[in-house]
Amino acid sequence: MTTIILESKEVTSTVVVKAKYVCDRCGAEIPSHLYNVHDFTLTFERGTSYPDGGNGDGWHVNDMCQNCVMWLRNLLIANGVKVETFEWDY
Ligand SMILES: [Zn+2]
Repeated sequence: MTTIILESKEVTSTVVVKAKYVCDRCGAEIPSHLYNVHDFTLTFERGTSYPDGGNGDGWHVNDMCQNCVMWLRNLLIANGVKVETFEWDY
């Protein structure tokens, strides 16, 4: 006769739900609406990546309000960074 012992373990986890988005620069609330698009992410990553693994580090800015995005865009352009524009329509 085989005896199977099942063990259970209680697991707790924390889920962070953003109730609102605030600008990482000025703290202003970023309006959120089902059909509005306001997407901003500035990311830098460095490291190595192979098929079986890798490592690295980096930094990012996730949320900026419209005013601060324009401030950053103008700052980049004023300092010689090529900022490309794009449009979409579907
Ligand atoms: Zn802002």
